[in-house]
Amino acid sequence: MQTITDPAAMRAWARARRAEGRRIGFVPTMGYLHRGHTSLMDLARPRCDALVVSIYVNPLQFGPGEDLDRYPRDPEGDARKCAEHGADVLFMPPDLYAPGHATTVHVAGLTEGLCGAHRPGHFDGVTTVVARLFGLVKPHLAVFGEKDYQQLATVRRMVEDLAMDVEVVGAPLVRDADGLALSSRNAYLSPAERARALSLSRALRAMREAAEAGEREAAALVAAGRARLDVDRLDYLEVRDARDLRPVEVIEAPARALVAAWIGRTRLIDNMPLGPTAP
Ligand code: AMP
Repeated sequence: MQTITDPAAMRAWARARRAEGRRIGFVPTMGYLHRGHTSLMDLARPRCDALVVSIYVNPLQFGPGEDLDRYPRDPEGDARKCAEHGADVLFMPPDLYAPGHATTVHVAGLTEGLCGAHRPGHFDGVTTVVARLFGLVKPHLAVFGEKDYQQLATVRRMVEDLAMDVEVVGAPLVRDADGLALSSRNAYLSPAERARALSLSRALRAMREAAEAGEREAAALVAAGRARLDVDRLDYLEVRDARDLRPVEVIEAPARALVAAWIGRTRLIDNMPLGPTAP
């Protein structure tokens, strides 16, 4: 595995692979890698000839007072995991944007509710960095996790709207054995906080079980979930259409339960399909 830090060198590498007719797979991350991230690499690996993993903690997607300055880092451990999971290139730029960078990519609609409502500008930061990374890495295929369900939908929309020649692949959410959704931010949790963080997946499971038992009213499902939550602040607990993320009152098509909540200073997100019509 080769480590590239210079964006221009990354672009030159990608041009050369494309000239050879190789299919480039791409997994963008912010590092502090766990099994959720490596599952994305495992999904991409057999579908491409050359796999690039990027690690870049993108300032544009953090709001004032968020955890940009304390985001966990483990460059050596990350490099080992990327190599073990078949990456050809680890792209770790200290800076990603061109001098005088002045472009923002904004996806309307999809980004307005859920995390978009609580993290103003966050998704503009995500789509802007993903667009720039796509320009440098030139992937044929890029894998994003369903852990960040609204992000995946937003990236799909951007790729469609801007006719980017990238196949976007969604990867299933990976959990710890006890049900906690794996996240780099779990590193912030004390043991007591981690125990309470389990209430997010418990709430979503309660909603899924109620839906499987025949409950179709979103409000009733949300009430069932809310009763399980043990958090310090709830940003949202909602039922949305699984495809376009429109708010749902009565489930008639595949739906998704999504939650964002704070445990102490840590903001966690999770989501789950709602059966039996779940995708
Ligand atoms: P991040 O490093 O948090 O920006 O995440 C990089 C990519 O890994 C995103 O596409 C995430 O959705 C994905 N990801 C993070 N955690 C998980 C998880 N527990 N399961 C599946 N994918 C994940």
